[in-house]
Amino acid sequence: MTSESLPTFKYHPDPIATGSVVVSDNECVCCKQARGYIYTGPVYSEDEHADDICPWCIADNSAHANLGAEFIDPVGVGGYGEWEEVSAPIYEEVASRTPGFTGWQQEKWFTCCADAAGFLGRAGYKELLAMGAGAIEAIRVESQLEGAEWEEYLKGLKKDGEPTAYLFRCLHCQKIGGYSDFS
Ligand SMILES: [Zn+2]
Ligand SMILES: [Zn+2]
Repeated sequence: MTSESLPTFKYHPDPIATGSVVVSDNECVCCKQARGYIYTGPVYSEDEHADDICPWCIADNSAHANLGAEFIDPVGVGGYGEWEEVSAPIYEEVASRTPGFTGWQQEKWFTCCADAAGFLGRAGYKELLAMGAGAIEAIRVESQLEGAEWEEYLKGLKKDGEPTAYLFRCLHCQKIGGYSDFS
């Protein structure tokens, strides 16, 4: 086990809580070290990667520079045009230097106030209720469901199943945003 403290990620404040980074003795293919933690989310690159990149190599851009790795499709930042556009350095920071997360479909990253938002994690019905009315409404609007159909969908949301919701908080106005999907 290492005593190194995890790097901080502006747009993914607690990757341990979201499950994108786990305690592991796996060696990182980038720095060739077993540093005690490994990234478990999606990797977009020429070579296949699974649980073999450490969070430090994500944070310092070396996984992107050396492996050509991205952790979300940059066009997914802003939800493929669904939310606000952000500046090029922000697309780059989220895609290349931020741990991603695993969704059922192509992942989307909420944007607000001309910036990418911080990823809070997956949520089911219970977690959404705990986050409050704003979070529930954000997921409802994005789902385009209403009435009884929405009620049924909402109650069926699962943190570790499907459909599942993905929550983000704006770093500026604190608004909760996100979306839901299923396989
Ligand atoms: Zn590494
Ligand atoms: Zn905002």
